[in-house]
Amino acid sequence: MKKFSRKKKIILISVLVFLLILNSILLIIFTAPKLELKGEESLVVNIDGMYQEAGVLATYHGENISKEVKVEGKVDVHHSGTYKLNYVLKKGIYKKEITRIVIVKDIEAPVIELKGNQEAYVCPGKTYEEEGYTAFDNVDGDITSNVSSTTEDEKVVYTVEDKEGNVGTNERTLIFKDIEKPKIELTGGTQTVYLGGKYTDAGYKATDNCDGDLKNKVKVTNNVNMNKAGTYEVIYEVTDASGNTETVKRSVKVVSLPKGGTIYLTFDDGPQEGTTNKILDILKEEGVKATFFVTSSGPDYLIKREADEGHTVALHTATHNYAKVYSSVDNYFNDLKIVHDRVLRITGQDAKIIRFPGGSSNTISRNYSRGIMTTLTKEVINRGYHYFDWNVDSNDAGGANSASAVYNNVIRSLSSSNLNVVLMHDIKSQTRDALRDIIKYGKANGFTFASITMSTPMVKHGVNN
Ligand code: ZN
Repeated sequence: MKKFSRKKKIILISVLVFLLILNSILLIIFTAPKLELKGEESLVVNIDGMYQEAGVLATYHGENISKEVKVEGKVDVHHSGTYKLNYVLKKGIYKKEITRIVIVKDIEAPVIELKGNQEAYVCPGKTYEEEGYTAFDNVDGDITSNVSSTTEDEKVVYTVEDKEGNVGTNERTLIFKDIEKPKIELTGGTQTVYLGGKYTDAGYKATDNCDGDLKNKVKVTNNVNMNKAGTYEVIYEVTDASGNTETVKRSVKVVSLPKGGTIYLTFDDGPQEGTTNKILDILKEEGVKATFFVTSSGPDYLIKREADEGHTVALHTATHNYAKVYSSVDNYFNDLKIVHDRVLRITGQDAKIIRFPGGSSNTISRNYSRGIMTTLTKEVINRGYHYFDWNVDSNDAGGANSASAVYNNVIRSLSSSNLNVVLMHDIKSQTRDALRDIIKYGKANGFTFASITMSTPMVKHGVNN
């Protein structure tokens, strides 16, 4: 033992103590539990979105002790903010702690939806007229008013930013090309004309989305043969500046006159108590249909009866006051509307058959408005009416004051190869008294009686004003 001095002993013990401490430290380090994050250490979650907790992995001596980890803190996805999650593990003398940062905020861009098409056709040389859009954000709601748009050569770019700075965009492509056909609108539908007569086009309109009014460019091909019964087509064709062509057709029926001729009995200026009711009685007994051009006068029930018994209720004039009716185009139509609405109210019918006060050939209108009949005869057709004058005049409003005078005037003018539109007035007692004999004459001579309809060829006078 003497070999070791006291000094050497101290050194030896110190080394041993040091080794012991080192061993303990190493033991602590290598046997401590392990704690590590799964998933990301810091992440951003959309507001109102889903936060999926990825968890941690804790091991101790190779054994999974993740269940022993306590989580401090909570993420509220409905409120924006920065959330800190602490994962704490205590095992014996050991305490381990790791942290995850979760940022909740609006990261979703607003969405711009376009009204109209994503690819918009624009007339060449024109500017695009905005069809509208909406912008909606998951947090801010409707932010349409914040949208700004810029038009470049061939597109419109829409941009909108939400409060969090997320930017939504959309784009509309502009195609400068007219791909839309012009439109042709025919006045009236199928037209019926009598063999050997004259076909007059009822009118048409043509418009184009880019070129506007194209009426003057319409090419009308008319193959109607007035000398041969049959159904013909009139073809209307128009091409716009971009080469789009529209074609429409109208049927025209050329029909032969009924054998023996047709008599259209027409009665103006009624109804009137004492005459119209008696005339209706006679027509009923004889099984004949007629046409009544009514006014604002007389009782409603007679108009109702005319319609109920199968006659045509047509429009004459509300006031029959020439000075008023023919003072202007507007005044004419205002007067017509009054009687039209009366008939509609009583019968439910939208009457479209009319007779001008004094006929279309009247000259009295000259006193109130020069040329008005020239305008009106076209305008009523444009508005879908058919107007009828007459070719047999009973003259019951003129000099024919007796039943026999009325009778003679009518039968003298009847033509068996024609359609006979007979002018009479159901406010005249001599007409009432002549009616049965006129009907008997017609029947005895092979005539057919009919009421005027929209397919009856129009019988018109020449216009004198
Ligand atoms: Zn009249």
